[in-house]
Amino acid sequence: MTKKRVLITGGAGFLGSHLCDRFLKEGCHVIAMDNLITGSLDNIEHLFHRDDFEFYNHDVSKFVHVSGDLDYIMHFASPASPIDYLKMPIQTLKVGSLGTHNLLGLAKAKKARMLIASTSEVYGDPLVHPQTEDYWGNVNPVGPRGVYDEAKRFQEAMTMAYHTFHGVETRIVRIFNTYGPRMRLDDGRVLPAFIGQALRGEDLTAFGDGSQTRSFCYVDDLVEGIYRLLLSDCADPINVGNPSEITINQFAEEILKLTGSKSKIAYKPLPKDDPKQRQPNINKAKEVLDWEPKFSRSEGLKPTLDYFIKKVKG
Ligand code: NAD
Ligand code: UDP
Repeated sequence: MTKKRVLITGGAGFLGSHLCDRFLKEGCHVIAMDNLITGSLDNIEHLFHRDDFEFYNHDVSKFVHVSGDLDYIMHFASPASPIDYLKMPIQTLKVGSLGTHNLLGLAKAKKARMLIASTSEVYGDPLVHPQTEDYWGNVNPVGPRGVYDEAKRFQEAMTMAYHTFHGVETRIVRIFNTYGPRMRLDDGRVLPAFIGQALRGEDLTAFGDGSQTRSFCYVDDLVEGIYRLLLSDCADPINVGNPSEITINQFAEEILKLTGSKSKIAYKPLPKDDPKQRQPNINKAKEVLDWEPKFSRSEGLKPTLDYFIKKVKG
């Protein structure tokens, strides 16, 4: 049987590299495409010796060419952490819009199925809690986070249009905060920030009064949900995340305990438009994909901490 051929954009990033591992494990031929603006070849160097793996250094906001057939396109390229997309607002808007358009065109030409990485950020600072897929969101288009949120909302609209008008097979996953090995220590997201600070004996920087909530999903659970969604026949958006919700203050305490650190919590100003609460409703994923997360935070944090300890010690 010929191997399925998969293009993974953002393949040198945190989630993209885990997807490369998963598709190779499933016996696919994997083409990772990345321009390395926030990713790193370190995440995929263990794959370079394989003849079922290829890497293209390319910006997907420019015309995308891939030789040969493609069965699946997984579009994961985009700056993803707030400090990254605030530093690169135009690239973020372009990869969500022009990049998505290029890849949908490629999917149409190759008759490939395309899955896009959308986000809980399409719900903005949500007025419905927990967030269900039929909630339209509360996004400030001209605020600092608008570059990411609106790029992702446009990405969903464009993907649905290609599905409806061109009959391209598409899938939309709305990913909630995910963590695990291969996150960048300096990407500014709360989990690497807190773990790095705790390991270096610095204060943990909680923004605002730390009462805002997030719900953290371990990367292996997320990848399983995404893989099931790809193989399902559901073209409507599906939330994939872990509903276990926690305040940033509680999370800081949890990290201090886990690392055995004597650091304190230091409060810093809350960034503009920072969502006050976030928790996925995953009933649809349960019904349609027969999926729910398996890793508790304490189970997922162990391998994550081990990874960061190695990074901090160099
Ligand atoms: P990441 O920064 O680790 O990975 C993104 C990758 O995309 C990087 O390797 C980067 O170099 C690459 N990239 C960016 N722009 C590109 C371009 N124009 N052309 C080619 N490559 C480009 O981030 P991540 O956490 O792995 O996120 C991956 C995807 O998942 C993103 O689309 C993000 O919006 C989405 N997502 C992630 C989370 C999360 O919690 N990690 C939550 C919601 C959505
Ligand atoms: N946060 C924090 N300290 C940090 C980094 C982030 O208190 O050093 C807060 C941030 O204000 C937000 C939450 O942690 O309320 C999650 O932030 P992150 O950047 O990880 O992702 P977001 O869910 O906001 O995209």
